[in-house]
Amino acid sequence: MKAIVLFGSPGSGKGTQARMLTQCLGVPHISTGDMLRDRIRQGSEVGTKVAARMQSGALVRDELVNRMVQERLSQPDAAGGFVLDGYPRTLPQAEHLCKWLEERGIREVVIHLAVDYNIIIARLTGRRQCPRCGTLYNIASHPPQVDGLCDLDGEPLVVRDDDSEAVIRERLDAYDSQTRPVLDFFRGAGRRVIEVDASNDPPEVVFEKIRQAMEADDCS
Ligand code: ADP
Repeated sequence: MKAIVLFGSPGSGKGTQARMLTQCLGVPHISTGDMLRDRIRQGSEVGTKVAARMQSGALVRDELVNRMVQERLSQPDAAGGFVLDGYPRTLPQAEHLCKWLEERGIREVVIHLAVDYNIIIARLTGRRQCPRCGTLYNIASHPPQVDGLCDLDGEPLVVRDDDSEAVIRERLDAYDSQTRPVLDFFRGAGRRVIEVDASNDPPEVVFEKIRQAMEADDCS
């Protein structure tokens, strides 16, 4: 069972590493950010409620996110493992997840992608995403082959609503006040936390570091 929690601030590269990990391990990628954006796109009732919060950079209510993740983790394709990306983000979410995992005898491993603050700002302001397949680009470090179009399906790339500078600051504040304590919670409880320096290396090198650290930890 590969229960992986990818942890890091906005812009730390969680989404990119999650995609590489899920491809390598053959388990689903569970991104609460992507799930919430899907619900907004579908125009569901939940979507309308969360859209304003997400656009302002604030976190969505714990009960809603907890329910959404619990339902997703209960799907058959997650029975052999999963990579969680962007969850848990608050202490109540961490407690909820740990209880759910403990009840099923599942031992998770947390991978913390540590990235310097200034690098994060540069990454987030240059980020572009394909609205169809979710592939991420960066105009500075990883531009698409054709300006503004996805390499995989040619769809015009978009800037996420919450990637403007003011909203980025809000998201980083939310991370500092609400999400960073989650890491201390995992560390304090003697759970497995793997630290990976993800500041300067390209995604493939960060991925290799993760793979090696997991092997050394005997959880690959
Ligand atoms: P990033 O990690 O770059 O901020 P995400 O796609 O993970 O991007 O999240 C985007 C937004 O979605 C967050 O700013 C927040 O509003 C909402 N969100 C995502 N995951 C959670 C969560 N676990 N709890 C509460 N809100 C969340």
